[in-house]
Amino acid sequence: MDLGIRGKTALVCAASKGLGKGCAMALAREGANLVITARGAEALEATAAEIRKASGVQVRTVAGDITTAEGRAAALAACPEPDILVNNAGGPPPGDFRNWTRDDWLKAIDANMLTPIELIKAVIDPMLARKFGRIVNITSSAVKAPIAELGLSNGARSGLTGFVAGISKKTVANNVTINNLLPGRFWTDRLKGNAEFNAKQQGKTVEEVKRAMEQAIPAGRFGRIDEFGDYCAYLCSARAAYITGQNLLIDGGVYPGTF
Ligand code: NAP
Repeated sequence: MDLGIRGKTALVCAASKGLGKGCAMALAREGANLVITARGAEALEATAAEIRKASGVQVRTVAGDITTAEGRAAALAACPEPDILVNNAGGPPPGDFRNWTRDDWLKAIDANMLTPIELIKAVIDPMLARKFGRIVNITSSAVKAPIAELGLSNGARSGLTGFVAGISKKTVANNVTINNLLPGRFWTDRLKGNAEFNAKQQGKTVEEVKRAMEQAIPAGRFGRIDEFGDYCAYLCSARAAYITGQNLLIDGGVYPGTF
């Protein structure tokens, strides 16, 4: 299937590792030129080189913190009018809500709600004018099935979800779609960090916690970043013009509900 995005430009945030990298690689394999960001320059350059080698597309890098105004300005300066925007950033830390201060909440809201909203605001009008735009926000399965110790994530991402639900209906007539992609469990640095937290809480080893997590997945394994990337690339494709405002799980069957 030709996804119809050859030669399009994609801004993929937080993409040196993990799910963001999976999305960047998949878009590149479909022929989209990329601007990718992350804070650490070394891993970012290594990922850019790997994607160029695998796909032959143009990959530019912007090292910076996407959750800051300066980080976003730098990303947008390199890519002022993307056809495709993948919003991503690190997730907030796990913990006990009794210990979270107002500052902790503001950090989470800044990173996982206001940053994607600011980026959408910056790119949407040119997309509407060109009558092509695809925006995918990487959120979390925790939006549909909350994880108690990830309360900062549950809260901040739900705010983004509510916002997207409204505006995605306004943009689709101009062939600009906005969807949220909800990862279940992918064994990335992020999930390792959560497993370390749970291991400490439960007096278990990380290996034990990892095994238990994996056994709880109906698919019997963690997700792979290339599987996540392929789903993202489809949502960013010319073929996905009739999908907007959706919260799409990719979780190997973990979500327990019928709908
Ligand atoms: P990961 O493997 O730790 O990768 C995170 C990537 O984002 C890295 O490239 C990192 O590079 C970059 N990054 C982090 N904070 C950034 C910032 N402020 N500005 C720019 N780049 C930043 O994490 P992941 O598992 O792919 O998770 C991606 C998102 O999905 C997170 O929000 C996470 O909470 C969410 N999620 C993941 C899972 C899962 O199973 N993995 C499940 C549910 C939700 P630098 O550190 O160099 O900046």
